[in-house]
Amino acid sequence: MKDIVGSRFRYRWILATVILLSSMALIAFNYYSIKLLASVRALRNAQFVYVKAQKSAIRGLSVFVYNQRSEYYEIFKSNISIPIADSLARTGWEKGKSHDFVKKAYLKGQNYPHDLGDILWLFQNFSQLNYFKTGFHYWRSSDYYVGQLWILGEKIHRESTTHQFSIQKKEIFTKAINQVCRNLDGTEEKFSEMLVNISNSVSRWLLILNIIFILLVFLNVGLFFNKLMKQLKDALQQIEAQNKAKEEFLSVASHELKSPITFMKASIQILERFAKNTPETKKIHPFIVNSGKQVDRLNNLVKELLDVTKIQSGRLTLNKEEFDIDALIQEAVEEKKQLHTHFLLIKSLASAKVYADPNRIYQVLENLLSNAMKYSQSETEIVVWSEIQGDKIKVCIKDEGKGIPEENQAMLFDRYYRVESTQHTVQGLGLGLYICSEIIKSHDGKIGVESKSAEGSTFWFCLPLLKAESKIEIPIGK
Ligand code: ADP
Repeated sequence: MKDIVGSRFRYRWILATVILLSSMALIAFNYYSIKLLASVRALRNAQFVYVKAQKSAIRGLSVFVYNQRSEYYEIFKSNISIPIADSLARTGWEKGKSHDFVKKAYLKGQNYPHDLGDILWLFQNFSQLNYFKTGFHYWRSSDYYVGQLWILGEKIHRESTTHQFSIQKKEIFTKAINQVCRNLDGTEEKFSEMLVNISNSVSRWLLILNIIFILLVFLNVGLFFNKLMKQLKDALQQIEAQNKAKEEFLSVASHELKSPITFMKASIQILERFAKNTPETKKIHPFIVNSGKQVDRLNNLVKELLDVTKIQSGRLTLNKEEFDIDALIQEAVEEKKQLHTHFLLIKSLASAKVYADPNRIYQVLENLLSNAMKYSQSETEIVVWSEIQGDKIKVCIKDEGKGIPEENQAMLFDRYYRVESTQHTVQGLGLGLYICSEIIKSHDGKIGVESKSAEGSTFWFCLPLLKAESKIEIPIGK
């Protein structure tokens, strides 16, 4: 049993560990995937600002070539400084410049401040991956073309200070600007493509790995649940086998005890008779009487055990017949009266016939009367009566004992149940009421108790009144 409980706990721990680890892996994976997606988004933001500024710079420079008005050159200058600052931040980081330097250049590149952390994290962890390497290579190419644009802008500005541009000159400059513009478009497109590819593949892997991990968790839970159920089943089977062995042992042991007890009882009866004859043996007479009582007790216990094992295995049979229950009640009361311990009174008896096993019903009456005597003071009253209730007869036995607390009443008819307050003062196995209830139930009857602490108890049972039934042996129990 200890082993079963131990391994059950071991499996619970393994189950919990596997689920915990898989869940942690799932959380970690999701966390990093989402962080990666957020960083790619930050990079796209940065690229958007970069491209927008660079396009505005080109527009400014192109207009400047045609009208040579300084405000357009200013537009060019202020816009071109954005991708240049961005490029400075990136190369600064690559060359190991301070965080402060990188941050300043990055903000000058008009990027969103809260994106900086994500972008740096991406650079730190993924810049060596082929995917990103190619991407950053394109960005570096863009930086190169931005540099070219800056130099071109400077040159155009320088020349504009000395003379007005001729139409041919304007065309040459415009061509040069368009060339840089095309180069930039090409590299930026490739960089964008890389970002889209990265987001797509991260999302795809996110989905695939999520499915795999969730399946793994389910699989583990299923597997270990299965194992757990098997363990439980084995444990139950083991318990059932142990219970069966116990019932069998009880059955065999009580059966084997019956013959020696009967022999002892007979011998004690003979001894008791002879002991009365001479003055010497009279002295030992009370001891022999006591031994007789103890043998009776032993006999009752063995009988109870035997009955329980029969009920449990469905081997208790009923030999039903038609008889007067009032006569049976009288007989049982008269027998108990011989003990002269209590005042046993029959209040009223309904004359009624039942179709039942008289020996078993007598056993119930005997048990309830014995209990009434066992659990109340001697010389108190025990009242017995019966009454017809519809198609049933109800038999009641009322004592003046200390009663049974309400919370204990529901379990009174369970096997081996004894009320705690009396179990140390009165001997018993807690089987009598269980056997009574099984016998009454097998007669389609009911059994119960009405009791209050310190006010005594009234045990009762109901049996159906006689019906035309054939005499058959009905197995009861289980
Ligand atoms: P046992 O008497 O051997 O303990 P029973 O099954 O006959 O077993 O009774 C179960 C318990 O019910 C007893 O231990 C006792 O506490 C309680 N009980 C039974 N009859 C009475 C009664 N008449 N008055 C008070 N308690 C009772």
